[in-house]
Amino acid sequence: MDKRIEKAAQDPRLARAMRAMIGMANGQLSVESFIPDRFWSVFSTMSGKPHEYMVAKGGGGWACDCPDYQKRHQECKHILAVKLLVEGRV
Ligand SMILES: [Zn+2]
Repeated sequence: MDKRIEKAAQDPRLARAMRAMIGMANGQLSVESFIPDRFWSVFSTMSGKPHEYMVAKGGGGWACDCPDYQKRHQECKHILAVKLLVEGRV
């Protein structure tokens, strides 16, 4: 990533959103809707090995079953990818 862009994205959440955008743009991250507005599957090859994660939106907000979300309980790049697609914003 360009160093200037990296600097602009020092906010970790924004940095994740940018990784999500780049992943979707180059086909390393693909989102499929299971139940509209509730469940999505996110297929990722961004860490080398292919993985599929479930993203859910419910009364308590957004959740994902990836290790990043399980550890931090903050929006991971899979949730941000879905939000970008569904809501057009993060
Ligand atoms: Zn995730």
